[in-house]
Amino acid sequence: MTVRLRAHHLLCLLTYVGKGYSPAFTANYDVVVKRLAGGEDILIVSGPDDICAPLLNESEPHCLGESAAGRDDVAARDVGALLGQPIQAGDRFVLDASALARMRKAFSAGLTRQACSGCEWSGLCDIVAADGFSDTRL
Ligand code: SF4
Repeated sequence: MTVRLRAHHLLCLLTYVGKGYSPAFTANYDVVVKRLAGGEDILIVSGPDDICAPLLNESEPHCLGESAAGRDDVAARDVGALLGQPIQAGDRFVLDASALARMRKAFSAGLTRQACSGCEWSGLCDIVAADGFSDTRL
């Protein structure tokens, strides 16, 4: 099986501690994280992904908005530069422990945080990173 992810969720996964927009959202997020931890590969998609899915029944889901797409573009650029591989729709890869560690180090150093600009969760993600990602679920 493959987990469909939009690019900026490669950052959000680093700091996921079980908090989110609704109980349904976090329940689904937990399933996605378990799938990734179990070794499923990632398919980069454009637009809403497997994490967004529970929000798509809302009248105007922010997942479809321009700000989310803009975050994807910036995250794809920065994570791609960090990992030395393009991050674009259609790419597949496995997020192994080594890549995860590099991404968390860069996130803490602020090297991949431009995509987070204006995000309502940024304060929480700052705290999680400052705490060494100790309570994260992935
Ligand atoms: S600040 Fe927002 S966009 Fe950045 S990692 Fe956290 S949840 Fe994702």
